[in-house]
Order: sequence, then structure tokens, then C-alpha cells
Amino acid sequence: MSDLVNLLILGGTGEAVQLADWLAGEPRLRVVTSLAGRTLKPTQPRGDHRIGGFGGVEGLKRYLADQRIDLLIDATHPFATTISANAAAACDALDVPRLVLARDPWPKSSGDHWIEVDDLDQAARAVQGLGRRIFLTVGRQELDAFAALKNVWFLIRLIEPLVQPPPLGECLVITGRGPFSTEGECRLLTQHRIEAIVAKNSGGAATYAKIEAAREMHLPVVMVRPPPSPPGEHAKTVAAAVDWVRRRI
Ligand code: NAP
Repeated sequence: MSDLVNLLILGGTGEAVQLADWLAGEPRLRVVTSLAGRTLKPTQPRGDHRIGGFGGVEGLKRYLADQRIDLLIDATHPFATTISANAAAACDALDVPRLVLARDPWPKSSGDHWIEVDDLDQAARAVQGLGRRIFLTVGRQELDAFAALKNVWFLIRLIEPLVQPPPLGECLVITGRGPFSTEGECRLLTQHRIEAIVAKNSGGAATYAKIEAAREMHLPVVMVRPPPSPPGEHAKTVAAAVDWVRRRI
């Protein structure tokens, strides 16, 4: 390693932003956060950042070599499996130390009425029969899975407004960025007479309030299980990831 240690954070989560924030000002460390570019106005991390795909494993390997990346932290969304697999492959090939910063999924609590499924297609099938008014809290890219459902009205909450109309029949799109409060989520569910929620089990505090609200209001949640976590060393907290970096500079 040269005198300056180059850390690449693969971002897309609040934890990635917090990690860049906590490491800002660390002597001998240059931090670059990489974002997929899924949102037009992402929360700007401190330090440097870049936006957009690398071009698969080969592109990421080229980037790691060109930028002389010494360390990589995969702080991507738990459902972003392609970039995590690419990071594992590229780091293994170039011998770049890699840490996965991954929060635990939400555990099911007593009082939760969850219908757990493995993917969005299963979620769409599970929704049928649960009611006519459904709160969809999945990403913009995943709305297609619900397009074929008839006689269902969807409340869709996204981080940013859609550029194209959603591929669903009857629906209302609202925007919002966590953290949300349980009280606010109960109000929203009541206002729209929601009968069931579809959520991805992404863990973390920022979007947990809808799960608490569903529990309080005895509403079913179609919960998409998280995919298996990427291989390699893991940290569950930003503090543990900061320690991992400090041990290496
Ligand atoms: P993905 O399927 O893992 O990645 C698809 C491609 O996007 C990657 O192969 C890579 O392109 C690029 N990419 C993803 N993350 C990147 C990053 N941090 N920096 C640079 N390039 C990145 O991830 P996804 O398509 O973004 O999303 C998959 C799931 O994750 C969805 O369920 C989505 O809702 C959820 N999610 C993602 C994010 C996010 O910020 N990515 C945030 C919230 C939720 P190349 O192969 O060209 O390098």
C-alpha cells in the first residue's frame, strides 16, 4: 500500500452514507463512495463519489486497479445481489480486502402476521385474497411483478416520483424517504384504508415503522425474504466497519 489508503465504499444505503461521514477526516485515507444511480437526487456522501455501473466484474476489476483501491466495503442494499457478487469476484481476483457491511433482517415478532415469500412474483401471488387495497413498499424496478393483478388498488411509496406512469392499473404513487414514524405510518394506512402491505425484509430502523404499524393495526404483511448475504467477512454496524478500516491504515 502507498502512504494514502484508498477505500471504495459500494453504497446505496444509509449505513454507507454514515460510514463515509464517520471516516471523513481520517488521516491517510481517501474515501470514494460508488452509487448505482438509481435515484436522481441521492443523499450526497462525504468524501469523493462516483455514480453508475462499472461494467460487470471486469469493469470493476479495471476500476479497482486504475484507482489503486486498497480496501473495499460492500455497504449495498441487502437485495442488491449482483453488485455484491461482482465485488466478491473482483476483490478475490485482485486480492483486495473486502468487508460486507450488512444489517440483520427484521425478526418476526409476536403479533406480526407475515406471509413470507422468496421473491416478488411469489409476493404478487400472495397478495391475491388479502384485500383490494394494498400498500406496496418495493422498489420502482419491482412494480412489474404486480402488473397482472386485477381488482386491486395499490398505494405505492417511492423515494422519487416516477418518470413513466407505473405499470399498474389503479394506483396512487406517493414519495417519501425514511426514517418514518409508526404514528405516521398508522395514519397513512388508515387514510388509504389499506388491507395488506408488501415489503422486502431489508432490516434497519429507517423503514421499520410500517411493520410496527401493520402489527398495531392487525394487517397482514407479505414479506419478501432477503437473499443470502454475500460471502466473506461481515460487520453488522457502521462502528465495526470503521474499526475494520482503522486496523488497516
Ligand atoms: P444489483 O442488481 O445488485 O446491481 C445491478 C447493477 O447495478 C450492477 O451489476 C452494477 O452495474 C450496478 N450497481 C449496483 N450497485 C452499484 C453501486 N453501488 N455502484 C456502482 N454500480 C452499482 O442492484 P440494483 O439493480 O440496484 O438493485 C437490486 C435490488 O436492490 C432491488 O431490489 C432494489 O430495490 C434494491 N435496492 C438497491 C439500491 C441501490 O442503491 N442499488 C438501493 C435500495 C434498494 P455493473 O455491473 O455495470 O457494475
